[in-house]
Amino acid sequence: MENVLITGGAGFIGSKLSLSLLEKGHKVTVLDNLSTQIHGENYKHSPLYNSIKDKVNFIRGDVRNLSDWKKALVGQNIIVHLAAETGTGQSMYEISKYVEVNISGTSHLLDFMANESHEIKKVVIASSRAIYGEGKYECSEHGFVFPESRNEKDMENGQFEPVCSRCNKILDLVATDEQSKINPCSIYGITKYNQEQMVLVACKSLGVDATALRFQNVYGPGQSLSNPYTGILSIFSTRILNNNPINIFEDGLESRDFVYIDDVVDGTILAMFNNNSSSSTYNIGSGKSTSVSMVANFLKSAYNSDVDIQISGDFRIGDIRHNKADITKAKKVLGFEPKIMFEQGVELFSNWVKCQEIQSDNFDQSIENLKQKGLMK
Ligand code: NAD
Repeated sequence: MENVLITGGAGFIGSKLSLSLLEKGHKVTVLDNLSTQIHGENYKHSPLYNSIKDKVNFIRGDVRNLSDWKKALVGQNIIVHLAAETGTGQSMYEISKYVEVNISGTSHLLDFMANESHEIKKVVIASSRAIYGEGKYECSEHGFVFPESRNEKDMENGQFEPVCSRCNKILDLVATDEQSKINPCSIYGITKYNQEQMVLVACKSLGVDATALRFQNVYGPGQSLSNPYTGILSIFSTRILNNNPINIFEDGLESRDFVYIDDVVDGTILAMFNNNSSSSTYNIGSGKSTSVSMVANFLKSAYNSDVDIQISGDFRIGDIRHNKADITKAKKVLGFEPKIMFEQGVELFSNWVKCQEIQSDNFDQSIENLKQKGLMK
């Protein structure tokens, strides 16, 4: 049995991971600052925090402080570094905060490992699909391409699909593998790539195993229903339960790879205990893409609601069009196998939402923030 430190262990993924590791008999320490964006003004009412607080060794601290890391790292064998600022849109106007928490925060862990004596044998770092930007596509004439961010003018004219820069033909989506071009189109994506590369490079030089997991869009029971910056299933659910119409951006056909929380926890545990996975990166997703319109319709029927679903043609600067992960490598090396398909996952998620307090809907305010910064059209 191992001593495991989970940073951000009070969050959506971290709390579920903590509970799963405890069940398997490991000793879990959590380092988390209980950020108000995730846990609300009074953390004592945070369901995520309450789900773990009496079960783990909880240290309230900030990854920006080396002294907090030092308290948490004593005696640990495995580190799972999840604590981060996670909003793609928000990262475009809170840049120094994203850099400080995600990049500088990670640097303290590595400084500790390089300069203090410790018993750490494995580090797993949460990376993100955001590092690929638009990801991988195929042009019927020019083969595989990795398109740049879409052109604002095209999107204003309702042309949302990425096109080939050489022949201007609309591209076909293919699954993005780990060898794909690193092409982040947000500060968040840049910080996640920095985090994973810092961990992989530093751990290699220190002789410590390290694995970076590039999570796709994770959803499921426990995800924040009040954070208007992340999690489309939460955002739509909170809109529906407040009887507010859903504004779907672009033409509604934009898509994401939605991966269920339990599958992400399984993938993370497989990576933690796999000895052949070191110094490598793995996509953790479902391997399927689902359109945003389908998500809205699934949820509307799950809540038996008659709210309007409006396809607005609005768009956010920096949003990608599609996402589908190639998970062949994680299957082959880690033995990862996603088990919950989207239809089943939505049912599990919405059944959980129905038992939660309805949160106030802060989505319009978040859009107003993006508009004021010129990031929403
Ligand atoms: P979350 O926001 O639910 O949890 C993050 C936790 O980190 C929270 O409990 C928060 O209080 C804590 N935290 C934030 N700033 C901190 C700081 N400065 N010091 C200490 N703790 C801090 O996020 P999540 O969805 O559980 O994501 C976990 C990790 O997975 C993140 O690194 C994120 O970038 C990555 N990821 C998540 C998704 C997803 O869809 N959820 C997708 C790709 C990558």
